[in-house]
Amino acid sequence: MKTIGLLGGMSWESTVSYYKAINQGVKSQLGGLHSAKILLNSVDFQPIETLQHQNKWQETADILTVAAQSIQAGGADCLLICTNTMHKVAGNIQAQIDIPIIHIADATGQVLMINNITKIGLLGTRFTMEQNFYKQRLIDKFGIDVMIPTTTQIDDIHRIIYQELCLGKIEFSSKQRYLEIIDDMYQKGAQGVILGCTEIALLINQQDTDVPLFDTTKIHADAAVKFALN
Ligand code: GLU
Repeated sequence: MKTIGLLGGMSWESTVSYYKAINQGVKSQLGGLHSAKILLNSVDFQPIETLQHQNKWQETADILTVAAQSIQAGGADCLLICTNTMHKVAGNIQAQIDIPIIHIADATGQVLMINNITKIGLLGTRFTMEQNFYKQRLIDKFGIDVMIPTTTQIDDIHRIIYQELCLGKIEFSSKQRYLEIIDDMYQKGAQGVILGCTEIALLINQQDTDVPLFDTTKIHADAAVKFALN
């Protein structure tokens, strides 16, 4: 079994989900007391979040690169950046390490293709929804048309991620708001919706709606398990 490197802490609430999903994946395939070989470097999220909102992405890349190099030095065979947003600097990090980064958008694109999805809604942070690093990758590599929410919806989604979900707060009203937005995207032609922020599955899951949901945390964790066991 290969060792999975996790660059976590963004937020730690979702890193817990990764840890659990990866171990469950290995256990379900190997049985018994098998568990995943994981090397986790969990960073302090506060300074990263401040830099994101100051548009200082190179500085975030510098912090994450040092963390990624320590994971590589520890003997990991691959790296997962446990957040959609910070894939904005995935290229900068990959340029400074030799082990492969399993890209969350690629793992998601592959699952969407298997499900014959050609038009998808995207929920995530404002950075993930509005900028090109994520959605353009889905368009360019997988030919999938990506729909994003309206400006007011984006404001609400972003605020709920940073002010609630990353702090472990699960509010019923926020869940209703997310479900309303998901429904709206479906009405406008999306065949499903990407939960493109690793905390969203803490708030909503497939049982809450008939609209097909694609949870990037689970998809990313599954891709890591596949890498580790093949
Ligand atoms: N975990 C979130 C994501 O998947 C947001 C936190 C962050 O900015 O990294 O995008």
